[in-house]
Amino acid sequence: MKQYIRCDLREYTGYVSARTGNPSGTVWLNANEAPEANAADPASQRYPEPQPPELIQRLAEYYEVAPNQVLAGRGSDELIDVLIRTTCHARQDGVLISPPTFGMYRVSAELHGAFVYEAPLIDNDTTWDIPWTTLSERALSEPVKLVFLCSPGNPTGNVASLTDIAALAATLEGRALVVVDEAYQEFASAPSAATLIAQHENIVVLRTLSKAFALAGARVGAAFAQPKLIAHLRACQAPYPLPTPSVAAAVVALSEPQLSATSALVAMVIAERQRLAEKLTLLPAVRAVYGSAGNFVLVRFADAALAFARLLEAGIVVRDQRSASELGDALRISIGTRSENDRVLACLEAL
Ligand SMILES: *Cc1c(COP(=O)(O)O)cnc(C)c1O
Repeated sequence: MKQYIRCDLREYTGYVSARTGNPSGTVWLNANEAPEANAADPASQRYPEPQPPELIQRLAEYYEVAPNQVLAGRGSDELIDVLIRTTCHARQDGVLISPPTFGMYRVSAELHGAFVYEAPLIDNDTTWDIPWTTLSERALSEPVKLVFLCSPGNPTGNVASLTDIAALAATLEGRALVVVDEAYQEFASAPSAATLIAQHENIVVLRTLSKAFALAGARVGAAFAQPKLIAHLRACQAPYPLPTPSVAAAVVALSEPQLSATSALVAMVIAERQRLAEKLTLLPAVRAVYGSAGNFVLVRFADAALAFARLLEAGIVVRDQRSASELGDALRISIGTRSENDRVLACLEAL
C-alpha cells in the first residue's frame, strides 16, 4: 500500500490529539476545553470524536462496506484534498482528470502545487464516453498519482462501468489510485464501485450526504478503500474533521424514518429528471439534452447566453457552463421541485 503514499508521509502518524489513544476518565482536563457547556450548543462542549463510531457504523451499513474501509470527512471536498496531499509531491506528481468534470479536482491539485493532466471525455451528442485507453496511457506516461473518475459525471451525467474501472485499476496497480467520485450515485441505477474495493487495493470511492440526502450545509462525506489506505489518509486529515452538530444530523439522516424519506425524494428527482429532459428536448431553443444519471441535466442551447439571461430575469439561477471550452453553449440545470421545473420550462418555451 505504501507505494501510493508520498514517500515522506509513509511512516507519518499525524497530530496526537486529546482523543488519541482513547483515554477514559470522568474529569476531562487534557484539551483546554471549557469546564461548563454553552447553552447555545451543550453537545459541543468537548472536541468531537475524530471518527465517531456510530456515524462510521451507519455509513458502513448504508454503503455496504466494512467500518474499517470508511473515512468520514468534511464533505467529499475535504477527502479530495486529503487524497491529493497524501499522494502527490508538489511540483513533482500530478492528478489525471477527464474534463468537462467537477472543478474541485483541479482546484485542490493547484492549491497543493500538483500537476493536472487531462484525458477529455468524448462527446457523442447525447452521451459522453470515458476515454479509457487515453486515461491508462497518460497515467502510465506521466507522474500521475491519482485518476479522478466522476461517476455519474458532473456536469456530464455519464456513468463509468465497473468493468472498465476495475481494468484501469488493475493497469495502474502499484502506481496510482483510481478515485471514483460517486456524489450522485443515488440517482443512478448502476451499482457502486464500492463493490470493487475488496479486490483492488488502489480503488477509492467517494460519497457525500450533500446531494441525495439534502445535507449540503452539514458538510459530511466519506471515502471507502482498503483499511491500510484509510489509515494513511486518516493520518493526513484534520485532527477533528467532523463538527458535533453535523455528526448528529448525519446519524439521524442515516436512520429510519429519514432513510425512507430520502429514498422518496430521490425517486421524485429521478422522475422529474426524466420529465424535464423529455420536455426540454422538444423546445426549439434547445440543441441537445444529455442523458443524465445525476440530479441535473446538461443542456446545449441555440443561444445559451440568452437562455441564461432570461432564466435569471425570471429569478431562476442555473449553472453557466460556458467557460469550459467544450461547453460554450451549455447550461447545467439542477432538478428542482415539480413547480420549479415547470417555471424553467415556461421560461425556456418563451425563448
Ligand atoms: C457536489 C460534489 C462534490 C462535493 O461534495 P461535498 O461532499 O459537498 O464536498 C463532490 N464531487 C462531485 C462530483 C460533486 O458534484
